[in-house]
Amino acid sequence: MGNELVQLTLANCAPPAVIPATAETHPAAGLVPETALRQAPRVATPGKLQTFYIETFGCQMNVHDSEKVQGLLLARGMTPVEDHAQADLVLYNTCSIREKAAQKVFSRLGAFRKQNNGRRKVIGVLGCVAQQEGERFFERAPQVSLVCGSASYSKLPGLLDQLEAGNRRVSGLSLDTDECFETEVTRRDNPFRAYLTIIEGCDQRCSFCVVPMTRGPQRSRPSDKILDEARRLADEGYSEIQLLGQIVNAWQDPSPTRAGFVELLSRVAEIPGIRRVRFTTSHPRFFGPDIVQAIDSHPALCDQIHLPVQSGSSAVLARMLRGYTREEYLERIASIRKARRAISISTDIIVGFCGETREDFEQTLSLMREVEYDQVFSFKYSRRPNTPAEASGDALDEEEKGRRLAELQELQRQIQLRRNQALLGQDFEVLVEGYQPRLGQAVGRSTTNRVINFPGRLDDVGHYLTVKVTGAGPNSLLGVRL
Ligand code: SAM
Repeated sequence: MGNELVQLTLANCAPPAVIPATAETHPAAGLVPETALRQAPRVATPGKLQTFYIETFGCQMNVHDSEKVQGLLLARGMTPVEDHAQADLVLYNTCSIREKAAQKVFSRLGAFRKQNNGRRKVIGVLGCVAQQEGERFFERAPQVSLVCGSASYSKLPGLLDQLEAGNRRVSGLSLDTDECFETEVTRRDNPFRAYLTIIEGCDQRCSFCVVPMTRGPQRSRPSDKILDEARRLADEGYSEIQLLGQIVNAWQDPSPTRAGFVELLSRVAEIPGIRRVRFTTSHPRFFGPDIVQAIDSHPALCDQIHLPVQSGSSAVLARMLRGYTREEYLERIASIRKARRAISISTDIIVGFCGETREDFEQTLSLMREVEYDQVFSFKYSRRPNTPAEASGDALDEEEKGRRLAELQELQRQIQLRRNQALLGQDFEVLVEGYQPRLGQAVGRSTTNRVINFPGRLDDVGHYLTVKVTGAGPNSLLGVRL
């Protein structure tokens, strides 16, 4: 999930929630007032790079990768700046999951060239578009001096040394690694929820998806490193941890214990000080009832599961090479519905995949009616380079994809509204994540990942409070503090 997600945004009863700005959510990230650029001093060569600015596009994995890259740069003695005009090093951490996401970095670079008035600085491109384009980037965008894919981030300090030594163009593009990206320092942007990577890359070959080509082979981090980091986070005062991976539930300890994901979940949940553990993204293929049993046994494991289905049609799922049928997916859902706590379920859906018929699409709608998701992230299929589906005919035109997407989102809006209305009068513990002074509203998040706005104070932020639900819209709830 990421900033490219098409989420329902029809909050018809609740005032806008205040979510702390992150690279992912800040609408003005990377935009610089032109005057600041006009006044910027000119420098001829990069020399010692002292200040940096990172703009991040895409999913939580990218947000967290940027946090770790910031840690590397801080360890090098560099200083972050709020405004890219003041930065010696500007990095764009890119996403190529859909065509529109991939284009963003090129439009950003184009705008940058127009605004920059010849100021010399180092521009680098990280992440999936960097990996996908490789050294072709230097031709498409000559102002770029560094391209580096996520599997090569540990080489970044060396690449920056080379730039400082006068090299004009450097790259880190090897995917041939069995290691995860470890950093001594990570500069976390969110003061409440700490992301923690447990597995990198992906070995699935879903026919629509570019991730295996951009993030490299699947590799699990050793449990001792994960648990050390989780304990450190608890010591630093983080009480909520989100375990991250493209296929988080495929994690297996590379150390001799070969422990599996459920064991890891339990051990993280038992760390003193950790009150909430979330994990994303789970793949249905690796999802067993033992995950549900773990949630039932450990109060710190949040009652929330994100389980991307992609389509409700077994024929489409087979063409997507997802490795499960509609019926097998529904069995997973049935096991989740049997849990003692009512677990909230969200999903990702792609509409208009190659050859999707009206009948296939109807099956997706019927699956949505059957499951009654609490949240759906829905996308129009976007053909991606080097994927197995790239060469398949894409029968659906953009207009038809758009119509199907709108129909699906309207159905989900009604489902969410109904499900949220059923919560009226119930009490939830929320972690307060923000405060909107103009409205006197605090915004909290429940363990089920529901956003609840309620009359509050600035000093509620960061605290756990109990709130009674008094109003419900499709995307958020209103409440009063108890
Ligand atoms: N690794 C996760 C999995 O396999 O379930 C998915 C991670 S991906 C960053 C997030 C979502 O983007 C996917 O679940 C899928 O719905 C969507 N997505 C991926 N490739 C896409 C494509 N080519 N066109 C449209 N949506 C796509």
